[in-house]
Amino acid sequence: MSEYRLLIDLHKQAERQGPGSDAATEKAIALAGLAPTTPLKIADIGCGTGAAALVLARRLNAQITAVDFLPDFLDVLAQRAERAGLSERITPLAGSMDSLPFADEEYDVLWSEGAIYNIGFARGIADWKRYLKPGGLLVVSEITWTTAERPPELQAHWMSEYPDIDLASVKIGQLEQSGYAPIGYFVLPPTCWLDNYYRPMQERFRDFLARHDDSAEARAIVAAEQREIELYEQYSAHYSYGVYIARKLA
Ligand code: SAM
Repeated sequence: MSEYRLLIDLHKQAERQGPGSDAATEKAIALAGLAPTTPLKIADIGCGTGAAALVLARRLNAQITAVDFLPDFLDVLAQRAERAGLSERITPLAGSMDSLPFADEEYDVLWSEGAIYNIGFARGIADWKRYLKPGGLLVVSEITWTTAERPPELQAHWMSEYPDIDLASVKIGQLEQSGYAPIGYFVLPPTCWLDNYYRPMQERFRDFLARHDDSAEARAIVAAEQREIELYEQYSAHYSYGVYIARKLA
């Protein structure tokens, strides 16, 4: 099985495919000032199996287009929405975040947790802006340095994994330069990484390896995930996901 299929198999039964929590999604809803009764059209971009889309559907009077390029994740999202009685509110859509089939000014809110890095923060916020109504809201989480200085080993790791990692002040500046008014920012706490993402993943390792006959390819994936977890455990003071909330200027 290809590395790609193995990664899908490891992650698709998870409640989320990246760090986060229902509480963090709710905090972002509050900071964005979204009222529970106002009818809203929302796109959740890079939705995975629906961690954020399900909270948005539960908390808001919203029609949500949940976009991901992996149909396997969207199938799980559709099942979860059905079980939660929320299918009327969520429309799964298979597509890529670099060529979204949306009309200009179609959405009140664009939401994206742990996914914009796939095209890069600066490009994502600039490209997606046209899909927002004037005055519409962007809520996006992005890997962010939380200290001005950091150990060389950590710096080197992120420069090879995602050189766009930067301080919140830089990301907020990029929002300002791209025609948004930043209105809120917070950092995901360690529980979002450990309790909600890494520990559940580690609990899946054994069955994952068994399903794939302990193959070298499956073991390599577990080893890479384990290295990422150890890096976070050692250096969590220096980085996290920042959650950025900004309004599109008219
Ligand atoms: N938002 C979900 C969450 O917080 O659980 C998923 C986060 S996961 C780290 C990133 C997601 O982006 C994955 O579901 C992946 O399939 C999706 N993705 C990656 N590249 C994409 C692209 N070019 N277009 C659409 N989705 C993409």
